[in-house]
Amino acid sequence: MTIRVTVWGENVHEHKHEVVGKLYPEGMHGQIAKTLNEDPEIEARTATLQEPEHGLTKEVLANTDVLTWWGHCAHGDVDDAIVDRVQTAVLQGMGLLVLHSGHFAKIFKRLMGTSCALKWREAGEKERLWCCNPGHAIAQGVPHSFELEHTEMYGEPFGIPTPDENVFISWFQGGEVFRSGCTWRRGAGKIFYFRPGHETYPIYYNETIQLILKNAVKWAKPEGTRWTDVRDAPHVPADKAPEPITVHGGSVH
Ligand code: ZN
Repeated sequence: MTIRVTVWGENVHEHKHEVVGKLYPEGMHGQIAKTLNEDPEIEARTATLQEPEHGLTKEVLANTDVLTWWGHCAHGDVDDAIVDRVQTAVLQGMGLLVLHSGHFAKIFKRLMGTSCALKWREAGEKERLWCCNPGHAIAQGVPHSFELEHTEMYGEPFGIPTPDENVFISWFQGGEVFRSGCTWRRGAGKIFYFRPGHETYPIYYNETIQLILKNAVKWAKPEGTRWTDVRDAPHVPADKAPEPITVHGGSVH
């Protein structure tokens, strides 16, 4: 079955900064969607911050198997009601790929519950990514290590909860290291954070990065039907318990 992907883009740098607009004339979201659509198993569409409800209506999310999120300078402009909606969709089983500076997106911080802070430096230095688990679904076809000639540095400590799995770790020319590819589960949803993707370098044209994005979409797709009542917390009175029970003690309810 086709995996329905919504590629969400903040879509600000592309219009504000010439270097980004030239690199990504159709927007970073446009390039990411184009890449994913090369895969016959994936059907990707885009949504941006500027659209009504940021392009993430209830209907769009109900028809999204995996959402990818790239944001940087406008995290604060994302409506909290939409963050609630995306969080619910993830808990229900929608996959989420958080890309690069999306580490500070409201939705990522909400799902992680930690600072998600990190060190950074924009010096166009070399990054070497190491695969921590070549057997992982996201690492299939990816070399044990590969390099990006010019990247922004992200360094530890990275304020995330300990990942379920570390799939990639990065070394930078300046000496820092960083957990670059991490997975978590929240409710029925799978989350993958992937570091590379700074807007002033052609990262999303790199074939290994493109392969990892396609693999990650396939890994993050829902494993079954949506857990639609994931936020419900129904009271079960004693006389409705599956087995007969006698009520003991007091109650404030
Ligand atoms: Zn960046």
